[in-house]
Amino acid sequence: MAIQIDFRSDTVTKPTAGMLEAMMSAKVGDDVFGEDETVNRLEHKLAALFNMEAGLFCPSGTMSNQIAIKCFTQPMDEVICDQTAHVYRYEGGGIAYHSMASVRLLNGSRGILTPELIEPEINEANIHYPNSSLVVLENTVNKGGGACYSLAQIEPIHTLCNIKGLKLHLDGARIFNALIRTGDAARDYGKYFDGISVCLSKGLGAPVGSVLLGSAETITKAVKIRKAFGGGMRQAGFLAAAGIYTLDHHIDRLSADHHHAQALAGALGKVSYVFSVMPVDTNIVLFEVAEGFKAGSIVRQLAEKGIACNTTGPKTIRMVTHLDISSEMIDMAIENIIHLHPSVHK
Ligand SMILES: *Cc1c(COP(=O)(O)O)cnc(C)c1O
Repeated sequence: MAIQIDFRSDTVTKPTAGMLEAMMSAKVGDDVFGEDETVNRLEHKLAALFNMEAGLFCPSGTMSNQIAIKCFTQPMDEVICDQTAHVYRYEGGGIAYHSMASVRLLNGSRGILTPELIEPEINEANIHYPNSSLVVLENTVNKGGGACYSLAQIEPIHTLCNIKGLKLHLDGARIFNALIRTGDAARDYGKYFDGISVCLSKGLGAPVGSVLLGSAETITKAVKIRKAFGGGMRQAGFLAAAGIYTLDHHIDRLSADHHHAQALAGALGKVSYVFSVMPVDTNIVLFEVAEGFKAGSIVRQLAEKGIACNTTGPKTIRMVTHLDISSEMIDMAIENIIHLHPSVHK
């Protein structure tokens, strides 16, 4: 195998030299005592960026989402989200386990919800019904092939939640991809959401970490929940330093990931073993293999050419672009995609 180009996820990136240097020179302290100045700086920096009062550094996006859900619900409440939502599908049943809440699943278009979809699913006060207390949006939508909301789409959802007395949380694992794509400003997000989870370890390229943003009151509650979840870290400033570095250096370059994804989609659209490619909005390419092919078989045959990707179903494959994919790698990958003549028997 001549080349190894890893499109499995934007979580596979390794720290850059500059990032490692920032980590090595971080000033640290015990963050459970609130004494790690680098963690504090990261939390303040992101809170200011999104115009929210406070932030909380967490070991993973799963933890920051689950802390938010626990902050915004009581046992027996109901959470409203799209049926593809990460918080529902990929967080180990955490909503039931941590928050003892039920979930109402909607069918958005590529995971994108609208007030029209949400409103009829909000329960009226009635002894039979769970109390609808929280709506969770995802931006960009992972399972929706990186589809994104603009703020103009979010505003009426916020208004609906406000009128109905529901909280609104954003799973912003790839929020910077959405901001780059839509041109919306991070600072305008603060007024629409009660909680925002931002991942540093996806396209931004940090090795570890997510930050939950919210009001000072929410974050005070979240600190306690993080402790109970076992997520209170000590000299976490070494990790937070990587987060600060990515925010300073790796946001603008996300547009390159988006161009790379477009180029891959263009090539995949031309080959006979691909039936269709989902529209590419950001850094995720989802495609369906042609009649007679199995996704697993195509993935194996691409791997033999040094291209790593994953199936997302029996007929579907996902490729994700990120910090460690260069333009040269995209050219090489396209060359191999175009010239692959997959066997249906492999
Ligand atoms: C990756 C991801 C998360 C968080 O994942 P962790 O691996 O726990 O950091 C949350 N939401 C979405 C949409 C994601 O893609």
